Amino acid sequence: MRLILLGPPGSGKGTQAQRLVQKHGIVQLSTGEMLRAAVAADTPIGLQAKDIMAAGGLVPDEIVIGIISDRIDQPDAKNGFILDGFPRTVPQAEALDDLLKKKRLKLDAVVELRVNENALLERVEKRATETRARGEEVRADDTPEVLTKRLASYRAQTEPLIHYYSERRKLLTVDGMMTIEHVTGEINRILEALGATEPKAARRASPAKRSASGAARKGAKAP
Ligand code: AMP
Repeated sequence: MRLILLGPPGSGKGTQAQRLVQKHGIVQLSTGEMLRAAVAADTPIGLQAKDIMAAGGLVPDEIVIGIISDRIDQPDAKNGFILDGFPRTVPQAEALDDLLKKKRLKLDAVVELRVNENALLERVEKRATETRARGEEVRADDTPEVLTKRLASYRAQTEPLIHYYSERRKLLTVDGMMTIEHVTGEINRILEALGATEPKAARRASPAKRSASGAARKGAKAP
């Protein structure tokens, strides 16, 4: 199964992606996490991305397209993947179409998590509080000021993808204001209706796929 999760910052893409990973034994490919790992490891890409990310801007298309193209080729992505935070611009979506075509892979669906913007600030503040409570470092871009910029980038550069994928009959919209459980249930229901998931019995009968899901939960690698 190959999916894109689309939605503004704080819409729950990361949370839902993790749940889908566990259920379907596929990998979550989050460009945000890969870039944060690159920043933490001081790689050349990390150095290029650091200030842009801290200011809430978008990292150049060619960087993220290169990261995703390499990552899709890795063995743990063979069983399928969820793109979380990519594509974020129309040129990225076009490049993704091209590279999937070259790799002879098909995209099953694009799931848009639609949320009320007023709730996003509250959600991002909650995420920062929970991260602090776990004793972990809070993301540099999870502040009200930067969130405003990230939302502006989303509206200007990412929202056009809703039209892009709806024209290509790939778009499915889910109400992201429901509880986490309900959103997961709704996404799974849609995927089953699409025939994008294996029936439960087939999954139980396939231990090889279950072991692939173990690999899927490994952390992001720094590009
Ligand atoms: P995220 O974790 O998805 O919220 O991403 C955090 C930050 O990483 C974004 O605000 C951007 O600066 C950068 N980023 C992540 N994915 C992309 C992408 N597909 N294109 C450009 N910049 C990205």
